Amino acid sequence: MADIDLKSYIRDVKDFPEPGVVFKDISPLLKDTKAFTCAINGLLDLIGKPAIDKVVGIESRGFFFAPLLAAKLGAGFVPVRKPGKLPADTISQNYTLEYGSGALEIHSDGIQPNDRVLIHDDVLATGGTAAAACKLVEQLGATVVQCNFLLELQFLKGIEQISSYSVRSLVKY
Ligand code: AMP
Repeated sequence: MADIDLKSYIRDVKDFPEPGVVFKDISPLLKDTKAFTCAINGLLDLIGKPAIDKVVGIESRGFFFAPLLAAKLGAGFVPVRKPGKLPADTISQNYTLEYGSGALEIHSDGIQPNDRVLIHDDVLATGGTAAAACKLVEQLGATVVQCNFLLELQFLKGIEQISSYSVRSLVKY
């Protein structure tokens, strides 16, 4: 399992969702049980053994792995979503990303003060999305234990936006 080259299961889609963007499509990885299992185990290895109360997954591709990680870690899963998707009381944070800008929301009761939180998303690009998720978690009085990504586009230097946190990525470009 350890000798699987995960990069060979991630395909580049040029000019998606708009001209000039090379989209990292993880669909081939998700549909291959060995690659998917290897990725889950790799992400768990990156996390190690710290106590974690909640895993926050970022809409939408963060939802592929975050609930699985939460179940394996014995933690709860909490979604961070685009505006208007969460039904109960929310707090909101603006952000910018590689191809646009927007806002993210979390349920106000999704995380309790003093919770220890792992944030997961599929891709770390410019870092705006992850930074906004960290701010949401901290607004609720909790601690970000790690920002965890399946893949990181290092040339976009997103890590600079979340440099005060522990950041781990399984595959780097
Ligand atoms: P950023 O805020 O720039 O770090 O963007 C991260 C978010 O945008 C993640 O939720 C990714 O799913 C998505 N994203 C940004 N750039 C890409 C890319 N080149 N390929 C795939 N997803 C991307």
